[in-house]
Amino acid sequence: MALRVGVIGVGYLGQHHARIFAELQHVELAGVSDANAARADEIAGKYSCASFPDWHALIENCDAVSIVTPTTTHHEIALACLYADKDIFIEKPIAGRLEEAQEIVAEADAKGRILQVGHLERYNPAIVAAASLIHKPGFIEAERLSPFLGRGIDVDVTLDLMIHDIDIVTGIAQSKIRSISAAGDRVLTDRIDAAKAWIEFESGCKALITASRLATEKMRKLRIHQEDSYISIDYQSQEVRRYFKDATGLAFDVIKPENKEPLKEELKDFVFCVDNRICPRVSGREATQALEIVLRINEILEQK
Ligand code: NAD
Repeated sequence: MALRVGVIGVGYLGQHHARIFAELQHVELAGVSDANAARADEIAGKYSCASFPDWHALIENCDAVSIVTPTTTHHEIALACLYADKDIFIEKPIAGRLEEAQEIVAEADAKGRILQVGHLERYNPAIVAAASLIHKPGFIEAERLSPFLGRGIDVDVTLDLMIHDIDIVTGIAQSKIRSISAAGDRVLTDRIDAAKAWIEFESGCKALITASRLATEKMRKLRIHQEDSYISIDYQSQEVRRYFKDATGLAFDVIKPENKEPLKEELKDFVFCVDNRICPRVSGREATQALEIVLRINEILEQK
C-alpha cells in the first residue's frame, strides 16, 4: 500500500516537496495545506491532490507529514503531528529554540515515530563522494553566500544558512568543540544578515564558516585542508577537486559524481526510513546539535 504523505507549507521549498512526493513510487501525495489557501489550491491543482485549508485536517489523512513552514512554526506543527502518531520530516532548522527542538525529539522518541530533519547537503552527491577522501582534517573553510531574496528572514542568517555548514563541518571534524568566536552584522533586516564563525575543535581541527544573504552572487563552497591534500567541494556544481603536491607543483584531480537533486535523494530516504522503521541519516538529535551550536554563535553575536 502506498505511503500517504502530506505537505504543510507549500511556499518556495514546500512546492518541491509536493512535486517529489507526487513523483515517488509507492507514495501518494495525500494533500497539501498552507496558511495561504490560494497557494495550497494552486499546488494541489498542479500535483493532483487535495488542498486542506486547515493543516489539522490534512494530518488526519496522512501516514507521514513534511513540515515546510517558517521555522518559528515548526514546533507547534511537529508536536501536533506526533500527538496524532504521524512520522515527520521537518525542514531545517528543526526549530527556532533549543527547548522546542528537545521537546520534538522527546515526543518522537516517546511515540516511536520517525523524525528526519532537512539538512539536505548530506545528500549532495559531492559531499557523499568526498567522504572517502577526508582523513584528519586540520582546517575547514565553508562559504555560503546568497543575494538578498527576502526569504528566511524570520530568523538570523546563522539559522537559515550557516546551520547547513555547521552540520557538515561538525560531521567532518568528528570532535568536541573547544571554543567558538564569531562576528556578524544586521544590514537589511533587524536580524543577523551576515556572519563568520571560527570554531576550534579538541582534535586541533579549526573551521571558518561564513554565511551571508547580502552577496551579489550565490556561492556554496567547502574546502578541507589535511596533511597531504586539500579537498575543494562546490555544492552547486556538485564537483569535488582534490589538490595535492607533485613533481610539477600543485596538481589536482576532479571527481564529478552523477548529478542528483539532493532534495529528492533526501525525501526518498525519508520514505525508506518510514517504510523500514530505521533512524534517518539526519535524526532529530543531530539536528538539535547543529541548532545548539548555531544558538551559541548567536549568543556570541548578541554580546558584540
Ligand atoms: P516560504 O515563506 O517560501 O514558504 C513557507 C510557506 O508556509 C508559505 O507558503 C506560508 O504561507 C506557509 N505558512 C506559514 N505559516 C504557516 C502555518 N502556520 N501553517 C501553514 N502554512 C504556513 O519559506 P521557504 O523558503 O519555503 O522555507 C520554509 C522552510 O524550509 C523553513 O524552515 C526554511 O528554513 C526551510 N528551507 C530549507 C532549505 C534547505 O536548503 N533545506 C531551503 C529553503 C528553505
